[in-house]
Amino acid sequence: MTGSEPLTAAPGVVTGLDELPFDNRFTRELPADPDPSNRRRQVHGALYSRVDPTPVAAPVTLAWSPEVAELLGLDPELCRSDDFAQVFGGNRVPAGADPFAMSYGGHQFGSWAGQLGDGRAIALGEVLDRDGRHQTLQLKGPGPTPYSRRADGRAVLRSSLREFLCSEAMHHLGIPTTRALSLVTTGDQVLRDVMYDGHPAPEPGAVVCRVAPSFIRFGNFQLPASRGEHDLLRRLAEFTIRADFPHLDTAGATFETKLAAMFAEVCERTAELVVHWMRVGFVHGVLNTDNMSILGLTIDYGPYGWLESFDPAWTPNTTDAGTLRYRYGAQPQVAHWNLLQLANALATVTDDHEALQVALDRYGDAYNEGFAAMTNERLGWGAPRDGDDALAAELFSLLPRTEVDQVLFFRDLAGVPVDPAATDDELLAPLEAAWYQPEELAGEVGQAMVGWLRAWARRVVDGGLADDERRRRMDALNPRFVLRNYLAQEAIDAAEQGDAALLLELFDVLRRPYDEQPGKERFSAKRPDWARQRVGCSMLSCSS
Ligand code: AMP
Ligand code: MG
Repeated sequence: MTGSEPLTAAPGVVTGLDELPFDNRFTRELPADPDPSNRRRQVHGALYSRVDPTPVAAPVTLAWSPEVAELLGLDPELCRSDDFAQVFGGNRVPAGADPFAMSYGGHQFGSWAGQLGDGRAIALGEVLDRDGRHQTLQLKGPGPTPYSRRADGRAVLRSSLREFLCSEAMHHLGIPTTRALSLVTTGDQVLRDVMYDGHPAPEPGAVVCRVAPSFIRFGNFQLPASRGEHDLLRRLAEFTIRADFPHLDTAGATFETKLAAMFAEVCERTAELVVHWMRVGFVHGVLNTDNMSILGLTIDYGPYGWLESFDPAWTPNTTDAGTLRYRYGAQPQVAHWNLLQLANALATVTDDHEALQVALDRYGDAYNEGFAAMTNERLGWGAPRDGDDALAAELFSLLPRTEVDQVLFFRDLAGVPVDPAATDDELLAPLEAAWYQPEELAGEVGQAMVGWLRAWARRVVDGGLADDERRRRMDALNPRFVLRNYLAQEAIDAAEQGDAALLLELFDVLRRPYDEQPGKERFSAKRPDWARQRVGCSMLSCSS
């Protein structure tokens, strides 16, 4: 096995996987599908179905996260063991687990899709982490479940590697996300038609073990609401408040009060999440309501992408190329629309629709306030002042006028001189690496950019932050390293050839995204030209 060698993992307390401290609240407290068979079906009157993973040929651990292992108290030795690959590849169910697939529905691309559910995810159960919090361990790609519809319940290496890497990269960027413990190849082949153009081909299969306090989605509430299963919906809501929003579960408060408070918090957390995505240039790609976490986590890494040139209309998802519903610039509005669908579902079990509306309206303000505060910080301006929004807006309309690498632009902006005597060339020099078409700066765009930089510099000086303090604060919000689309694809190409070295190196670099890392410059370079139109780099489908 070629596991990622932990740099910081402390000795764990769990030395065998049968010692994992399971405490399966979800299956203990909520109604299960009475049919124990693994037959594909509509599941009514229940919130989940018990189902075991289907064994695979030859599980091998390609990578694991030392931070998640540490969170779960897993001994690093254990993560290198064959039993780890067996358990997290789906071949052995550990003692205390109670494997299940959840039932949920969702709006896909704006249309109600009915029952979806965990079609290729099986939770082993909930374990207590080192801080005593519940963490659900969920295998993605472990074989069919009652919710698999016409698909196989499997996942391919390329999409699993992308999910593994990006989950952990997001965490290290400080962005709420489901985590990933492990990436295990199965030794089985999976048939996929990558671009949905009638060319299916076998690909290596893999299983990721995802970890989160809860995998409950907006769609979990929507499905029982759509079926008029009010009692079921109410039980799910009560459980969620008790388990995931315990601070709202105050004695004496009515269900309606607690539900409204929960929804208000979901709106706030979602606003905060989207502000983070906009900051780092993350485009989820499939913001269907079944891919929205009740905890405000980034969930379901599919055809996501990272903005390269700053283009608000960009979407990585070829399935979305027609309507651009899930483009970078639309994410704040789409999240609001999704929250509205959640509110509609919750409204079937409460009379206090006014409270839901207030929370929904608050989302817009929370997003705008969060985005403005974040922008002020990342531009090095300190406390907001009149005129800041307009000056920032000027930048955001200027950036799309030439191809600017948004990560490099914001990171390198900290090094632009704020001295009023600086020449035009001196102002532009630190940003040199950010332009995809540097020749365009010779013209009017370059002049506009210089004009903006001078205004930016005046505002920085007026802000009064000491220079090193300002740069430190800017660097803390503007990462040097993100999971660039082409880097993920290079790691996939190598891993498919049996070489995990690049995956592990990239994984390691992404653990410290805000640090300069001498010798690792290759991982912060802007997209090379070959990657512009390559499948997997700028164009992804939902095939996974
Ligand atoms: P996604 O687009 O990944 O959010 O998935 C939407 C729905 O399709 C979910 O219910 C998934 O569980 C299901 N799904 C996606 N791929 C597969 C697969 N290979 N096998 C079974 N179900 C799948
Ligand atoms: Mg999904």
